[in-house]
This record gives sequence, structure tokens and C-alpha cells, in this order.
Amino acid sequence: MQDMFSRQEFFIGKDNQKKLSDGSVAVVGCGSLGSFVISGLVRAGIGSIKIIDRDVVENPNLYANCIFKKSDIGKPKALVVKERMEGINSRCSIEAIVKNLDYENIDLLLDCDIIVVCTDNMAVRYLINDVAIKNGIPWIYGSVARDEGYMMPVNADGKPCFRCMFGDRKRSSTTCDESGVLLPIIQIVSSLQIYEVIKHFTNIGKSIHGQIIHVKLGEKESDIINVPPNPGCKTCSLRKFPSSTNKEYTVASICGKDSYQFKPKTPCKINISEFTKKLISAGLDAEDVKGLMIRIFHDDMKVTLFENGTAIIKANDKEKAKKLYERILTAIKCNE
Ligand SMILES: [Zn+2]
Repeated sequence: MQDMFSRQEFFIGKDNQKKLSDGSVAVVGCGSLGSFVISGLVRAGIGSIKIIDRDVVENPNLYANCIFKKSDIGKPKALVVKERMEGINSRCSIEAIVKNLDYENIDLLLDCDIIVVCTDNMAVRYLINDVAIKNGIPWIYGSVARDEGYMMPVNADGKPCFRCMFGDRKRSSTTCDESGVLLPIIQIVSSLQIYEVIKHFTNIGKSIHGQIIHVKLGEKESDIINVPPNPGCKTCSLRKFPSSTNKEYTVASICGKDSYQFKPKTPCKINISEFTKKLISAGLDAEDVKGLMIRIFHDDMKVTLFENGTAIIKANDKEKAKKLYERILTAIKCNE
């Protein structure tokens, strides 16, 4: 029987195929872009993949994700992706981490050769840009919204970085949640990200470091834009890395316009199964998701609560979300 990678190996050569199988990649976010990226990397023969994602599968995810099935709804995305991908290439070692990535656990990424960022959380992109450049780890940015997408490989090689391109931290102006997205643009941007990973490990292709690719469907095929260097960049020029230690907020508006992230002021550890029972006996609609997180449904709000007390609350009112979080903290005694 022919080897799974025989067609690719015929093109890139045995040595390059071996380099891919020795490579380790972290993929942050396994939503739409992430699912295509992970699927592509597993099929390309990458040796180990670390998947970090905090969400569970929801119905709209079935539209633009090449991995999920209807029966996956309610399960943590990272665990579903791991299980499904192990059925494609059992030689790939896949680690699924169901966590909210932030400055406290960013060290999770430091043992990987390259990081592919597939989240639309702007704060996480800046955090990874700082930490990756500080530690000399290359990373690949990708974003999509409507019929438009961007891809940029970022290396700690003196070329302009993500902050040079986008300026100091600000909220993403457009996300898929707010503006919608067309499936073909996801497939194009994720393919560009996969290609950058293959280029990183092998000697094929031409470097585009210091450049960003912009694709808009229906217009020109793509633009490759030179990113202007910024001598005042707090990441690659001044090396101050302000986003890597950013503790400025306990509440942040994230991803879609109606999601807020809360963190306790002091560290805490929740016993997921015990606390779920407490919430249920208090009359709340709560669910223990495989001992990894608690989902709470209250009024029109939806809470995802993690072991370290961090919560993502979907709500149409920030103050209501804040009040609910305070109630949760009081119940788990994390706010003293
Ligand atoms: Zn920079």
C-alpha cells in the first residue's frame, strides 16, 4: 500500500517530508480557519500539533468548519478535532487544550516550532505577537470577514511585525460574528497559512516575511503588500512587549459584539463537577462539559466558565453580564 504522504513526498522530496514529520505546530483557535488549517497540517504529515480552543461546537459552526458534525454540538471543539484528526493520521501526535489563552498560560505555546493563529480575538493576536517575537518563535496571522481575508507570516528576523502593520492594540473592526463570511475566503486564507507552515519546515517556496497577503473575492486574485517598518514599534523595535504582561483589564469585549471576557482579580481554582451541582441545586441551568468547563444559561445570557474562574459571557448588555459574573464569583468564593 502506498504511504499516505506519497503524492506530497514525490513533489517535495523525502528529506522535506521528514522535516515535516519532525515539526511541531501550535494552532490557536479551531473554528472555521483553524479546522481547515489543522486538517491540512495533519494530512501534510506534521509530527505534532497542539490545539488550543476554549469553545464548544454550536450550530453556526457547521457552516464553515470542515471537521464538525451535528452530533458534536455542545462538545469542546478542540477535543472533537483531536478525535477526528487522529482517525486521519494516527502518526500525528495531537494535544487538545480546552483553555482560554491569555498572558497567564501563554507559555503553552513556547515549546512549538511555529504558531498558527486562527482566532479573531485581537487581544490574543497582540499577545502572541509579543510573546512569539520575544522568544524567537515564528507565527502566522490569518483573518477573514465577509469576502475578504489577510495572511501574514511573522518572524523574529528583524522584518516588520504584526504591530508594525496594525498599530497599537485595538479591537478588531470586523469579525465573522458581526459581518458574516463566505466559505471560499476561509479556504483560501487557511490554505495560505498551511503553505507558510510547509515553507517554514522545508526549502520550498519563496519567503514573504515583512509582507501581508490580502485577498478579496471577485476583485483581483490577491495583493502582496509590503508592511512598512515602524522604528517606534513596541514589539519588534523597542522590545517592550506591552501585550505580554497586559493585566489592565478583568473585563474585555471579545470576538463578536456581544461577548465579554471576565477574570477573577485573584487566582482561583474551581472544582467543575462540584460547582456544577451547586449551580443546578440553586436552580440555574448549568452543564458540566467533560470536567473542562461549565456552561450556564441564565436569562438571555450564556456563560462559559473555566477552572481558573475566567468566564466568557454572551450577553447583549455588559452591565448585566458583569453582575452575573460577580454573582458567580461570590458563589465560588473567588472575589475576596
Ligand atoms: Zn513591529
